[in-house]
Amino acid sequence: MQLSNYHSHCNFCDGRSYPEDFVKFALARGFRAYGFSSHSPLPFETFWNMSREDMDEYLAEIARLKDKYRGQIEIYVGLEVDYLDHTYNASIPYFQNLPLDYRIGSIHFLPLSPVLKEENMACIDGAYSDFERTVDSSFGGDIRRMVRRYFDSAMAMVEAGGIDIVGHIDKIYMNSQRYPGFSIDADWYRKPLLELFDLVREKGLMVELNTKNLVKKQETYPHKQYLKALCERHIPVLVNSDCHYPDLVNDGREEGFQLLADAGFKSTMELVGGKWEERSLQD
Ligand SMILES: [Zn+2]
Ligand SMILES: [Zn+2]
Repeated sequence: MQLSNYHSHCNFCDGRSYPEDFVKFALARGFRAYGFSSHSPLPFETFWNMSREDMDEYLAEIARLKDKYRGQIEIYVGLEVDYLDHTYNASIPYFQNLPLDYRIGSIHFLPLSPVLKEENMACIDGAYSDFERTVDSSFGGDIRRMVRRYFDSAMAMVEAGGIDIVGHIDKIYMNSQRYPGFSIDADWYRKPLLELFDLVREKGLMVELNTKNLVKKQETYPHKQYLKALCERHIPVLVNSDCHYPDLVNDGREEGFQLLADAGFKSTMELVGGKWEERSLQD
């Protein structure tokens, strides 16, 4: 098992410490590589996204760490870019022109209007009480409509491209599973998820196994029952902790690798000398 992590947050977004603190924890745990992926700037300000005016400082700080720790650990700079709609996502020139090592595409918001303002966003992440209110008020209390909308957005994100990795690909189930009428086994859930996997395969993207909630809630994204479907499609995977606290850089990694092995995977993807390579689970 390679010790690395490419999905992480720091104080440039909603992470709880300086980037260097994460590097120190990663070094102490014997990591080979560590990547930062701050929440991308949005057309509006939120408490968890980066501000566009902080981008230069972010890039400079991670570049400084790359140099400082050269020979000890490989440091990479990425972004977790929100897909909002066809006008605002990782494929637009702003994100494509940034000097990044990789881009993770994720969905946290479903726009309820073409006007991209925070008040027009249905948030799928965050507190369940807010999610429940959103399904009630904006999706007529029909969780299927919310799920459908999520997968439509996810398909559009993969189609739009400009990303290397799909972040927490089925995060929609985290809150949906508590809403009446939801079922992770229902055709109306399973079919769009598998169609999304098919499109990911066609576009040649990687999918992360996100372990942020594995130790705490026994939850992964993708859900462990769908890992086999990823494996059958030969979709390259990597294990990411999506940590916001330095002491969680390695959270759920060993358990995540075990889940991958149980599902039939033989390898994960790793950045080595700046290039994505397949590495055996045994390495
Ligand atoms: Zn995310
Ligand atoms: Zn994240």
